[in-house]
This record gives sequence, structure tokens and C-alpha cells, in this order.
Amino acid sequence: MEAETLIIREGKFYRGGSPVKPEFGNAEQIECLKQYETLGDILKEGMIVDNIQYDMQPIDATASFKCICGRKIYVNTEADEEDDIVCFKNKKVSCNTCLRSYIFDINNDHDLVVKIQN
Ligand SMILES: [Zn+2]
Repeated sequence: MEAETLIIREGKFYRGGSPVKPEFGNAEQIECLKQYETLGDILKEGMIVDNIQYDMQPIDATASFKCICGRKIYVNTEADEEDDIVCFKNKKVSCNTCLRSYIFDINNDHDLVVKIQN
């Protein structure tokens, strides 16, 4: 039973850190080589990473402010922790009434600020 996976490193086959002699027609080595080439092509172009895990349960954060037109605008985002205003940084929102666009930022005093974008 083979415990370690056959890998390719610097053009050679390895298993568990030891070099493996290439064998013509070895199905496992052919499969390994095929996967190496396919994955190599994808990773050169850029692979989408869809397996992402977060340790912390996201916290639903809501900020609100008054638009120039008087309408109250609410912005929702996910925070890593409570009182974490950084999660609003660069967040964009538009007023549904007057269509003005706003962007959130953090100022030098570490306050959450919102600015008109257009
Ligand atoms: Zn407005």
C-alpha cells in the first residue's frame, strides 16, 4: 500500500521525499504527469479559489447616514469582529432617491467617514 502521493518536483518523480525512477508506461506516473501539466497551465493563467474558510463567524454590521437629499441610507457589510469599522472601508453605496454615490473611508483618527463620490 502506497501511503504517499507521487509528485513531480524539478522534473523528477518523488514519493515521500524520495526520488522515484521513471518507468515507461507506468499508469500512475502518466496520470501524475498529466495532472501536473493541466494544473500548471491553469495556475499560470490564474485559478479561481473557491475553497475559502473563515475561522470567525461573520458579524453583520450596518452603518447609516443622511444623504444630501435627506434620505437615510443604510449600508450592510460583514465584520470580522464587533466595533471593526475597517470592514466598511472602500464600501460604495448610492442613494435610491437622488442617485448620489458615496464611498466609505477611515480617517486619520480612525473614524468611519463617508464621502460623495461623484
Ligand atoms: Zn439622496
